[in-house]
Amino acid sequence: MSEAPATVEAHKSAILRAITPLPPLDVELADAEGCVLAEDVTAAVSLPSFDNSSMDGYAVLAADTTLSSERSPAILPVKGEIAAGDTGIFRLTPGTAIRIMTGAQMPAGADAVVPVEWTNAGVDRAEIYRPVEPGNAVRYAGGDAKAGETLLEKGIRMRPMQIAVAASSGRKAVRVRPRPRVVVLSTGNELTEPGTPLVPGQIWDSNSYMLAAAAREAGATARRHSVVPDDPAGVLPALEEQLDHADLLVTTGGVSMGGEHDVVKAALRELGTVTFTKVAMQPGMPQGFGTIGEAQVPIFTLPGNPVSAYVSFQLFVRPAIAALQGASDLALPSVRATLTAGVRSPEGRRSYLRAVLSGDKVAPLSGQGSHQIAALGRANALIIVPERETQLPQGQTVDVLVLP
Ligand code: AMP
Ligand code: MG
Repeated sequence: MSEAPATVEAHKSAILRAITPLPPLDVELADAEGCVLAEDVTAAVSLPSFDNSSMDGYAVLAADTTLSSERSPAILPVKGEIAAGDTGIFRLTPGTAIRIMTGAQMPAGADAVVPVEWTNAGVDRAEIYRPVEPGNAVRYAGGDAKAGETLLEKGIRMRPMQIAVAASSGRKAVRVRPRPRVVVLSTGNELTEPGTPLVPGQIWDSNSYMLAAAAREAGATARRHSVVPDDPAGVLPALEEQLDHADLLVTTGGVSMGGEHDVVKAALRELGTVTFTKVAMQPGMPQGFGTIGEAQVPIFTLPGNPVSAYVSFQLFVRPAIAALQGASDLALPSVRATLTAGVRSPEGRRSYLRAVLSGDKVAPLSGQGSHQIAALGRANALIIVPERETQLPQGQTVDVLVLP
């Protein structure tokens, strides 16, 4: 009697429990994109660190403009100019104005800026056509963040916005978990390189290209290994050779339910550190996960059919890449949408059907076979059909995973 298949959730939980985040290291800001913070980033100084003008205009005492109008402007002598980057000490005498530029320090004694648009733009004498309130066009020190305030929390991914925050708070480097290094390796005697002629019986290897690209899309750095033939003696050495350069290994093929050419299964089973599991899903029922080598590098053995490999990657490998970075932000977004046509699904397995999501409608694609790469190429979403359902009618509301 064979064991009941695992649920998708159970398989994913087992994987995440086994993943240890990569050790943190310091990287220069220029290299930090895609890394995940392993420390909080706090403001070294208040942001901004000094009161400054948010507009080009005149620094004034607001009270000196109270009665100004187009017809009867306040007239203030202009006593100098402060540009962005001027580092002197400036002081405004009441009853006068200082020309000021965006980002320039406010002079002591001034409490507002009159935008140049509300004046005659005079060099010696500013005619002020509208009164300003105290604080007008002034960006106060600490108005964005106070010194010591936490700006970025541990676990957040360094995207362009977060890199700006780290730079603005004076950081040259940040402590992060780096992008995991993923190596992808396809197995199969039938596989040849795209670009070489095809002999009947052969196919071009698509999985290793697809999965390396998917790993990069998930924030990893990824490399594909050249195709490994169905030779049990060759598989393990090929994998072991990668251990020094990989934080995660992905193989495809060679793990079907019982074929004698299932070389990946044969080679890894002996190690005793990789578990082969049936997962109650379609496509992608045969899954394998474990660790390999002294460094216990996580390894996924994905099924060979390209659609199975792709769906398995998105459901299981993607969250594992996040976990290696100590993050949990890579789950595919899920939305609710209405089926434009009925769908079928095997009983007891959760189906992930290739589909086109458009607004709140989702259209299943024809060609749901797990080898049917053409339909995968048209898909932007996966319709989820729960385990208990064998068919769902047109008009039914379903859960849909949005593909990255
Ligand atoms: P396997 O899991 O090795 O039994 O392979 C299942 C199916 O997927 C077979 O039809 C293989 O030819 C196909 N397949 C396996 N690996 C790849 C690959 N790298 N690229 C495209 N198709 C593949
Ligand atoms: Mg094979």
